[in-house]
Amino acid sequence: MRIVVLAGGIGGARFLRGLKAAAPDADITVIGNTGDDIHLFGLKVCPDLDTVMYTLGGGINEEQGWGRTDETFQVKSELAAYGVGPEWFGLGDRDFATHIVRTQMLGAGYPLSAVTEALCDRWQPGVRLIPMTDDRVETHVAVEVDGEQKAIHFQEYWVRLRASVDALAVVPVGAEQAKPAPGVLEAIATADVVLFPPSNPVVSIGTILAVPGIREAIAEAGVPVVGLSPIVGDAPVRGMADKVLAAVGVEAGAAAVAEHYGSGLLDGWLVDTVDAGAVERVESAGIRCRAVPLIMTDPEEGTAAAAMAREALALAEEVRA
Ligand code: GDP
Ligand code: CA
Repeated sequence: MRIVVLAGGIGGARFLRGLKAAAPDADITVIGNTGDDIHLFGLKVCPDLDTVMYTLGGGINEEQGWGRTDETFQVKSELAAYGVGPEWFGLGDRDFATHIVRTQMLGAGYPLSAVTEALCDRWQPGVRLIPMTDDRVETHVAVEVDGEQKAIHFQEYWVRLRASVDALAVVPVGAEQAKPAPGVLEAIATADVVLFPPSNPVVSIGTILAVPGIREAIAEAGVPVVGLSPIVGDAPVRGMADKVLAAVGVEAGAAAVAEHYGSGLLDGWLVDTVDAGAVERVESAGIRCRAVPLIMTDPEEGTAAAAMAREALALAEEVRA
């Protein structure tokens, strides 16, 4: 079975770990969000691609959900001693190596998709990880600070400000001109099922869908498209997804997110058991819906995520029939 998954960082990566356990023989292609990418200290950093790569490759810091395990921050503190920041973005010493290799290869002329493949040679994530595009796309957030409106990089909004001010708009700058990376449309066209993990609907999956051609390819693939709600009980499970949902006029609710994707894209949607009351609303929007446990934090690494993946695949078979 060929499965295509659109993924952001932590929600996508943890779900993917479960999917690999649930479908060990499946051929999984992950289309990764690159709207979060940022240049720091002259280096190209791709937080979501790296979170997927490290999580599936066994190098992730489990508690944080991002960055490397057994990390140290010598380089960062040496940079700070020179007065060189930003200090709000945590780049560890081990992590730096990934960004150096990436930046070096990009400088030598390799596209990001080829660079990602090369990095994955080391990590062996067990999936084919492709960035949504090789072109530069950068998510910006419009905010009002001291009575003045300005657009800031998504990472500055998310990491430095911790989404403490309202997001007035979210703009994937460059997306309109971007082309899907090689392999993206082909993977969608030959998929048996497309899954939306519980990733951020606006700045992760929404950004991927903003690359012209990707949304259309999924809608036209003629295979089941099933998503899992990142919102449980009217709040994001972790993070501040409600802030960016508000910016696009969507309430923070499991049913509202399904309606936001719409029945033109989604065939099936899973909500958490605490949101069982939302099932009817989702189904009346023309999307098959089931309420199952959707919390991935469990001591036995990945068992809850694997159960979620099995439910998603079962729902896909149900809508296919
Ligand atoms: P990011 O790029 O690291 O922010 O990660 P993603 O976009 O892939 O995922 C972020 C989303 O994952 C957040 O909106 C969370 O609500 C959601 N999320 C994280 N953990 C869980 C979980 O255990 N269950 C569910 N349903 N959603 C989760
Ligand atoms: Ca992200």
